[in-house]
Amino acid sequence: MVLPGIQVEKIADIPSDLKGRLIDLAEALPGLGWIGLPNGEFLYHSKALVALTGMPTEEQVQRDENGDFNWKATVETEEYERLSSAWFTAVETERDLEVTHRIRAIDGSFRWLRSQARPQRDEAGKVIYWLGISIDIHDAMTAMEQSQANESRLEKLIDAVPSALWAAAANGEPTHINRALSEQTGIRIDELTSKDSSVLAQAIAKAIHPDDAANVDAALQYSFLTGTPFKLKYRQLRADGRYGWISGQANALRDADGDIVQWYGVCQDIDEEVLAQEALREREARVRLAVDALPGLVWMCSPLGEPTYYNRRLEEWSGIAPRDFLSSRKALLSTAIQLIIHPDDQAAVEKSMRASFASGEAWLMRFRQRRADGVWRWMEGRMEALRAKNGEITQWYGLELDIDQEVRGQESLRLAQEKLSRAAQYAAMAELSASIAHEVSQPLASLVASASAGQRWLEMSPPNIERARMSADSALRDATIASDVVKRVRALFQNRIYERHPDDLNKIIVAVCGILSEELSAAGVSVIYDLFPDLPVVVIDAVHIQQVLVNLFRNASEAMSETAAHSKTITVRTRSTSDGIAVEIEDAGPGISDVERIFNPFFTTKADGMGMGLSICRSVLYSHNGRLWAENTVGGAKVSFTLPVGEPDEPRLTESRS
Ligand code: ADP
Repeated sequence: MVLPGIQVEKIADIPSDLKGRLIDLAEALPGLGWIGLPNGEFLYHSKALVALTGMPTEEQVQRDENGDFNWKATVETEEYERLSSAWFTAVETERDLEVTHRIRAIDGSFRWLRSQARPQRDEAGKVIYWLGISIDIHDAMTAMEQSQANESRLEKLIDAVPSALWAAAANGEPTHINRALSEQTGIRIDELTSKDSSVLAQAIAKAIHPDDAANVDAALQYSFLTGTPFKLKYRQLRADGRYGWISGQANALRDADGDIVQWYGVCQDIDEEVLAQEALREREARVRLAVDALPGLVWMCSPLGEPTYYNRRLEEWSGIAPRDFLSSRKALLSTAIQLIIHPDDQAAVEKSMRASFASGEAWLMRFRQRRADGVWRWMEGRMEALRAKNGEITQWYGLELDIDQEVRGQESLRLAQEKLSRAAQYAAMAELSASIAHEVSQPLASLVASASAGQRWLEMSPPNIERARMSADSALRDATIASDVVKRVRALFQNRIYERHPDDLNKIIVAVCGILSEELSAAGVSVIYDLFPDLPVVVIDAVHIQQVLVNLFRNASEAMSETAAHSKTITVRTRSTSDGIAVEIEDAGPGISDVERIFNPFFTTKADGMGMGLSICRSVLYSHNGRLWAENTVGGAKVSFTLPVGEPDEPRLTESRS
């Protein structure tokens, strides 16, 4: 190719000494030297350049029939146009040439060269030749190409990743929004072009829910300022125009000196999880509502047995708020039990619950629990473990029902039965008494008749001695019959004497209180013991004395049915006296209307009373050679009895009210 206006000079016209110097110069250059002529022709291509392309210098500098240089064969066709045009432009303008291009090496591979040429002038400033040099920059170029390729591959990769990613410069200005994030938000970084605010501000304004924007901005600014990672949950615009929950995170990429070069962020779509959690929370709230509405007291315990939850009903029923438990530093279960369970039941409840927690077996128990109004109620508690698929216990569920009425119903049924059997006993006794009376009254009546007849015979004048003797005889016979009847009855009682054993009265009192404990606590009555420690032994029929005590305790408890709850106490006292042992049972009731009449059989002031209790007690004590009496005290009534110490005398058959 010959550019118009450039005069072609023959190489042969150059003086050979100048040509030789120029060739030396080209060879001396570091790199691939070459010499051009002011008219754009080439004089010389160095040996190094020839070695690279394999084309001799004479051939390279020649032109073909089209006017193209032969070195055209050492470059790509389209490269030749660019190179020759750059060269001729430089020649025409006489300005430095600088061009980067590829050249085909002898082995057919292409190498990158940077070719530079500067016009060399004479003193007059006329260009006399061009000194050119091509430098092999192949390695640097391929490294750059590689990194560019890597970069674009990385960019492609980032775009291909299904996660929503963004990158920002060290100052926090977003530089890249990947395809997933663009698709997620419908926002592209090249659209954030407003001059009035930063790219970040535009991105936040466009993509973040108005209620969350300030938070996101503040958290990001804080991270950009301090270099700490960014992490926040917020609502972000979705392509469908709705806002969805996002877990946003960003970390700083630092160079070897630790300076931040870039921020990389990820926006994870957690909308479904958040919505699922919300639904779960809602469901939980509904379940809780249902649990609170259940007509039972419900609680939960951890697998280790510590209370974790109880329903509102339990809270209202017991009047205990959760903070009453949680403030405790002790084991929560023990604290809860101490707060609400009856002192007499606490140990048993805790022991059996802990046994269930240890064994995993269901728990069922009846116990007394304090209601918010302070009243002890009988409860039935059940507890079962909830297990995971692998059988491990994940939770304990407990349910309590107030069964107080049922228990009390059973108790009154039991009492009614007891009364019935007592009544049957009394009836049998009444029958026995009637037959004794009948047997004795018969001979006694004829004895009285004989005695008065004898009296009459003797009062006659003269007295009829014979008749009187006969009357006396028949009186003697009747008296003997009566005495026999009495002896028989005595013998009946005398047999019982052999069932008497030495016993400790304090122990019997404590045992009786044990038997009655349920009944007494159901009535809200507590017992105060004032027992003389070294009480002498008494020889008694323990069963009968127990019956006496049961009767006296019951009377005392029943007398206090109207007494204020806090003062319902029975004090039981034992003392050692000159008579033997004295036992006092004192209550805080209204006192006794008539302290003597109450011992009469069938005297009662109770709607369902028999009025036989005290009279039987008195007979029992008399048969033990003891005494029973009652008196009123300042705050109630006191019923006392004594028992002699040591071997029993003959038991008395009849009461002597001494
Ligand atoms: P009951 O208990 O069936 O009435 P009791 O012979 O045991 O029969 O008692 C007779 C009556 O004595 C009772 O009805 C009651 O009026 C009176 N009484 C007994 N103990 C007391 C007491 N501790 N305080 C007041 N009254 C009492």
